[in-house]
Amino acid sequence: MKVRVLGCSGTIARDCRSTSFLVDHDVLVDAGTGVGDLTLDEMAGIDHVLLTHSHLDHVAALPLMVDAIANRRRTPLQVHALQATIDALKAHIFNNVIWPDFSAIPTPASPFIRFHALDVGQTLVLAGKLVEVLPAVHTVPAVGYAVSAGQAYWVFTGDTEHNPALWERINQMDVAMLVIETAFSNRERELAKRSRHLSPHALADELGSVGSGKNYPIYITHTKPAETELIMAEIRCFDQQHGVGSAPSHDIRWLRAGQEFEL
Ligand SMILES: [Zn+2]
Ligand SMILES: [Zn+2]
Repeated sequence: MKVRVLGCSGTIARDCRSTSFLVDHDVLVDAGTGVGDLTLDEMAGIDHVLLTHSHLDHVAALPLMVDAIANRRRTPLQVHALQATIDALKAHIFNNVIWPDFSAIPTPASPFIRFHALDVGQTLVLAGKLVEVLPAVHTVPAVGYAVSAGQAYWVFTGDTEHNPALWERINQMDVAMLVIETAFSNRERELAKRSRHLSPHALADELGSVGSGKNYPIYITHTKPAETELIMAEIRCFDQQHGVGSAPSHDIRWLRAGQEFEL
């Protein structure tokens, strides 16, 4: 299974795109602005979209992508999300004001997109991949995902703050890599708390819940373009302090758009 990072920034700027991952060629996890780097053929090859939540940085490219590929596809694009996320998309984006309701166009019986509600804890098989819906704690209903093609899981937290239920679950899983958000620097940790994101300080607490003996690589995502260097420096600083001797306690890396992982 291949995971390609299309976008992993908290917002946009030159060379910074918001959250989106392409798993193999046919499953998209979140539809942030990174989707705009795909060719029309690549976009048309996507059969399933898994959304973590309704925030714009995770759904911004979905309406435009559907429009771009509608006449190239014979079957509806399958969009999977919490019912609350689907309701928000229908009410605020696909409402025939901001954008056409592509779940009823060209006809309700044969639309360009079809929404599917999912729940935390549910498992799905999509395009030969096993997907588990993970809990997330955010300002709106939100989830994370674990995806596997039969081997170890690629785990993505989505946007979340302190999330004990996530650790409880993934400590039971064979994890190949974890992608976890750290949206704010320590300077803005109060804002991080209010907006239910992690700061390096909060991340340190979260990583204390990684099961003993688990040493999968941990990739940091959702950093603000102007603060990425600072956030990574703060994370490295705490990780050295918590490690044994001079060795860091976790294998923490910086996720970058364009990276591709073979799992
Ligand atoms: Zn969010
Ligand atoms: Zn976000």
